[in-house]
Amino acid sequence: MEQDRNHERSGHVDVAIIGGGLVGASLACALQPLIEHQGLRVAVIEAQPIPSANVCQYQPSFDARASAIAYGSRRHFERLGLWAQLAEAASAIRHIHVSQRGRLGTTRLHADELQVEALGYVVPNAWMGQVLHRHLATLPIDWHCPARVASLVPSASGYRLELDSGENVNAALTVLADGGRSGLKEQLGIESDHHAYDQTALIANVEMSRDHQGWAFERFTTEGPMALLPLDGRRMELVWTHESHALDDVLTLPDGAFLERLQQAFGDRAGRFRRVGKRHTYPLSLVTARETVRPHLAILGNAAHALHPVAGQGFNLALRGVMDLVDAVTRARAEGRGAGEAATLDAFEARRGADYREIVRFSDGLIRLFGIDHELMAHARGAGLMGLNAVGPLRRALGRRAMGIER
Ligand SMILES: Cc1cc2nc3c(=O)[nH]c(=O)nc-3n(C[C@H](O)[C@H](O)[C@H](O)COP(=O)(O)OP(=O)(O)OC[C@H]3O[C@@H](n4cnc5c(N)ncnc54)[C@H](O)[C@@H]3O)c2cc1C
Repeated sequence: MEQDRNHERSGHVDVAIIGGGLVGASLACALQPLIEHQGLRVAVIEAQPIPSANVCQYQPSFDARASAIAYGSRRHFERLGLWAQLAEAASAIRHIHVSQRGRLGTTRLHADELQVEALGYVVPNAWMGQVLHRHLATLPIDWHCPARVASLVPSASGYRLELDSGENVNAALTVLADGGRSGLKEQLGIESDHHAYDQTALIANVEMSRDHQGWAFERFTTEGPMALLPLDGRRMELVWTHESHALDDVLTLPDGAFLERLQQAFGDRAGRFRRVGKRHTYPLSLVTARETVRPHLAILGNAAHALHPVAGQGFNLALRGVMDLVDAVTRARAEGRGAGEAATLDAFEARRGADYREIVRFSDGLIRLFGIDHELMAHARGAGLMGLNAVGPLRRALGRRAMGIER
């Protein structure tokens, strides 16, 4: 990474962010007003080298992975001044179709019914990363990359972060946004609850025989859910969940046979599957940290909650956490309190808790509900989907919740 991003290397900062992934980078961008107008000192430590931030032009790629970004997250990115750039590669979700395989009962949500331009957007992950990192490069932060935080040592005024580069960073508030796999949480004695779904998500971009016209599809099967998200032109992103033991059968199929199997599983509602790109796999589990704040410490993103991607909520939930943490730090400074004080972090936790628990329950509940392979349950689900489709206010309430604009 460019040396000119290391504007300040004092070793003492107000906020140290461990991890410059989607969540850590969003947090650093969201702290901009405090950095520029109140002299907040921020360090970001990222273990992986980040591609040059000088190139920031959208390069469409057939295989680029993408995420569903809720309408509420668009508003947050607007507040950060980053939406216009993100929108260059965003595809709008204007309609959502939810169904279950082999059963009656569907429900549909439409953006115009909710009086919004889109229910959400699909944005390539690499593009989100580029936009965030390019913005970070304009901020006077202490940027350590590539550098890994090897250990966290508590002190009276915060934590000392020991980096594998030999440097130390002392921070009043340390934010763990490391994705949850670095072992740092465990080092601090913070336990997590793990639930393995025995499911693996297969992700690939597919090309359809016709334009998707802004439709996204969610289809539940007893093996797990499948989703198709609109990308540009006739391309869509496929998220196809399999019981892990059955994955190899599908993963190793030649493209033609894969497309046939997909067509059988998904049906014709989105048209014919014509082409498939590189297939990626992700074993799925629900991991939730038992603590998300301690004095001088906050945990965000996958480090706090790794969810099943069924409802596309992980990053959206994390971004709401980012905005709430920035609000809590801003209020604390206005009231003369430090960023890492217990009162600051308790206020953040109190605001976060309900949203966090509700989204975890919602994503996990969907998997359990649609995973029950029983005749009566299948009828009940079908009736539920039909009922939802018929009752406008209920459907609209669900839509607003999915869009992340109602808590
Ligand atoms: C298949 C799949 C599909 C998904 N789709 C959606 C979707 O459509 N919408 C949605 O909202 N969410 C979705 N999600 C969830 C979303 O991808 C995650 O919520 C998000 O990536 C979490 O980002 P993060 O920054 O917390 O973690 P990560 O992306 O894992 O970033 C962590 C960063 O920390 C760095 N790091 C790790 N350890 C250290 C260390 N010791 N020192 C320094 N740096 C360190 C890593 O290098 C990395 O860059 C999906 C997830 C999956 C698995």
